[in-house]
Amino acid sequence: MTAVKLTSGSPKDWRHVWRLVSPYRTTITLLALVSFVGALLEAGFLVLLTGTVVALAAGQQALTPVLGLSLPVRGALLVAGVAIVLRLAIGLSGAHLSARLVANVTVDERRRLSEGFLRASWAVQQAEPSGRLQELMGSFVARASFTATALTQGITAALSLLAFLGTGVAIDALLTLGVLAALLVLGSVLAPLRTRIRRLSVRSAGSGLTFANSVAEYAGLGQEMHTFGAQQHFLDQIDVVSRDAADAARRVQTAQGQLTPVYTFLAYGAVVLGIGALLLLGFGDLASVGAVMLLMLRSLSYAQSLLTVSGQFASSIPYLENLDEILNGYRAQAAHLGDGRPDRVVPVEFDRVNFSYSGERPALEDVSLTIHPGEIIGVIGPSGSGKSTLAQLLLGLRDPSAGAILAGGKDLREINRRWWTRRVSFVPQDPVLFTGTVAENIRFFRDGISHEGMRSAAQRANVLTDIEALPQGFNTHLGERGSQLSGGQRQRLSIARALVGGPELLVMDEPTSALDGKSEGLILDTMRVLRGEVTMVVIAHRMSTLDLCDRIMVIEHGRVTGFTTPSDLYQGNAFYREALATAGLGAGVQGDDS
Ligand code: ADP
Repeated sequence: MTAVKLTSGSPKDWRHVWRLVSPYRTTITLLALVSFVGALLEAGFLVLLTGTVVALAAGQQALTPVLGLSLPVRGALLVAGVAIVLRLAIGLSGAHLSARLVANVTVDERRRLSEGFLRASWAVQQAEPSGRLQELMGSFVARASFTATALTQGITAALSLLAFLGTGVAIDALLTLGVLAALLVLGSVLAPLRTRIRRLSVRSAGSGLTFANSVAEYAGLGQEMHTFGAQQHFLDQIDVVSRDAADAARRVQTAQGQLTPVYTFLAYGAVVLGIGALLLLGFGDLASVGAVMLLMLRSLSYAQSLLTVSGQFASSIPYLENLDEILNGYRAQAAHLGDGRPDRVVPVEFDRVNFSYSGERPALEDVSLTIHPGEIIGVIGPSGSGKSTLAQLLLGLRDPSAGAILAGGKDLREINRRWWTRRVSFVPQDPVLFTGTVAENIRFFRDGISHEGMRSAAQRANVLTDIEALPQGFNTHLGERGSQLSGGQRQRLSIARALVGGPELLVMDEPTSALDGKSEGLILDTMRVLRGEVTMVVIAHRMSTLDLCDRIMVIEHGRVTGFTTPSDLYQGNAFYREALATAGLGAGVQGDDS
């Protein structure tokens, strides 16, 4: 997992916030304008209201002139009424603008993440800890929209505060500045609390990811968990990580919640003391003191909301940082797209290919070989010798660390991915079906696949009879992950999926290793039918699969120690001889290389 970093609460944090909201500059500007005008209207209303009350109390028909303007009581009330109606309209449209902004941020962040992930190379996707993408899409994106909400609230609060203070200064500059100074001192007094929130939140983001990873991992252990009766252990483990995550979240929430009461206490105290001191010293008349007091008290709620927002930023920025960092990681290792289109895929040549997983000893070393059109190649070797790695390189999912792979004479890295994926197919050891119909599972979201093409692929994959026996044939809805099919049927369905695009090259990773003899026989029949038409590379676990192979490759410790016809291999390769002997197939197979 990418480590959750602790960074200082510096202005560069704003980079992440800016990245998040910069596409919505227009909406934000509009929102700022709306907030400012709304607050000016509200401030005007409060000034008029105070003036009216003071005039009425003194039995006067007109207000004490404000900013050189003298208004009759009725006129003042009318203007105040209009001001609050306009304030209402502006407030409602502001709410609409900020909700839309937050919804857009959520959708766009999810889009950015899924795009980054799906376009990343297979190496990056495969190395992702389980559950992390879900966690990023879920709570991390929620945090991003939370930040956007905080930003809109912050803008509203800051501009409203500005409008109120401006009005206050216009009415009584000294009074207002006195209160403002007290507020600024308060803001700085609370800085350590904000730093603490941020620190706690970094921890909370980390435990959130750990929790998600653990849950995803345990969820994948279903059968083993039951078989070995280990539920209690996992229950306890989930408890531990869940408690840890909840505890971290609780601390953040507590610290965030403490900001407001502490601030309110200090701020009200400061206003009372400030205004009291000025009155004692004989500054200001009753109407101005009343108006400034109302304005300042209302300002306090905006200042308070600014403070809450600053706490929310402090707690969200670590999440945004993580999002950006992980996304940059995806983007830095995007799958190459290439634009080369050779005449055909095969021959495929490996030219002194080396491959290492990061920082580990080479999984493949100095592999040079050629696969010719129409061949069936078997690949064998001890577990961990590099067979699957070779298959992934052959599929163009990973790039060689050194050397090159040429397909149809072109470097695989330069070949257009779309072109390639239409001509090269794969059957995994454990096929993944998704919740959908049989037809959708065979088509696998590719265009231009006719029903006829699907039937023909299913027939060649020896699964057509099984499909037709289902209640709605190709339109039968498979249970979650195709759970209603047997292992053999799932595997043959995945072969139909691989064949339906009419591939030139088919790579199979131990396609029969988990199947019974009958299912294996059906798959071998398919391979017989495809012989000569499709080039096949089959990683074989069972020696009987090799009966069909024109040539067999032996990989041991990342090196190709033999690659020739079965009979020649029988003469020259000890691993092959031993494997045949273990399978009880010795003499039978060694002569069958026709
Ligand atoms: P095989 O298919 O023959 O069992 P693999 O190609 O899966 O062998 O693995 C070859 C070597 O590479 C092994 O040492 C294995 O541990 C290592 N390896 C395989 N996949 C990864 C991976 N994703 N990250 C790091 N090492 C890996």
